[in-house]
Amino acid sequence: MTLRIAEIFGPTIQGEGSLIGVPSLFVRAGGCDYRCSWCDSPHAVDSRFRHSWQEMTPEMVMARLEALSGGMPMMVSLSGGNPAIQDFGPLIARGRAAGYRFACETQGSVARSWFADLDLLVLSPKPPSSGERVDWAAFDACLAAAGSAPRMLKIVIFDEADLDWARAAAARYPALELVLQPGNPETDPSTPVDLAAMAERMRWLVAVTVGRGWLRPRLLPQLHVYIWGNMRGV
Ligand code: SF4
Repeated sequence: MTLRIAEIFGPTIQGEGSLIGVPSLFVRAGGCDYRCSWCDSPHAVDSRFRHSWQEMTPEMVMARLEALSGGMPMMVSLSGGNPAIQDFGPLIARGRAAGYRFACETQGSVARSWFADLDLLVLSPKPPSSGERVDWAAFDACLAAAGSAPRMLKIVIFDEADLDWARAAAARYPALELVLQPGNPETDPSTPVDLAAMAERMRWLVAVTVGRGWLRPRLLPQLHVYIWGNMRGV
C-alpha cells in the first residue's frame, strides 16, 4: 500500500487554525476531490503536477519524518490536497507508536475511520467563493468518524456572501471551536505578498464579525504567509 505524497517538509510552525505557532512537520497529500477557485496548493491538486508526486509507503513517510525531526517526536500535520481520499491510518498508527502526534485538515467530503486516531481533525468546509458545494451528509459523517478526537471548524472568508454562509454553517455545529481566516487571493509563490493588503483583509474580517456583534469565532491570519509569503515547503 502506498500514499501519493506531494511534499514532506519541516520542522516549521503551523501557520493556521488552533495549532497556530505549534512546531510541526507537514505531509502534503497529492490529489483532491475539489477544485476550489482560490486553492493555494494547486501543486497538490492539479494532475498537471502529478509527475512531481511520490508514491511512498507509510514506512518511507515515517522514515522521512524521523529524519526531518532528528527522531524527536512532534506534531505532524496532514494536509493536501485532500488527505482523506487516501488511507493515512497505517502512517498514523506507526507515528503514534513512536510518540508523534497527528493533525489533519480536510474539507469534510470523505469520512475515514482513522479520523478517530487524530489529535486534531480540522474540518474546513468551503464557502461559496470556492465554487464548490458542501455535502453536509458527508461532512456529518466526518464528524462522526472522529468520535471523541478533538475537532474544529476552520472557514476561509473572502466576501460578505462567504461570511453569511459561514455563520449559517457554524450554527449547525454550536459546540465546535470555530476559526475564521481571511482569504488570500495572492497564491503565486513567485510574487511577493502585499502585507498591507493582508492586514486590510484582517481588519475587514474583524469589522464584519466582532464589529457586528458576532463574537463566537476566533479570527486568525495565515501566520506563515506573513513570515514567508507564499513560498512552498516552509
Ligand atoms: Fe485546494 Fe483544499 Fe480546495 Fe482541495 S479542498 S482544491 S486542496 S483549497
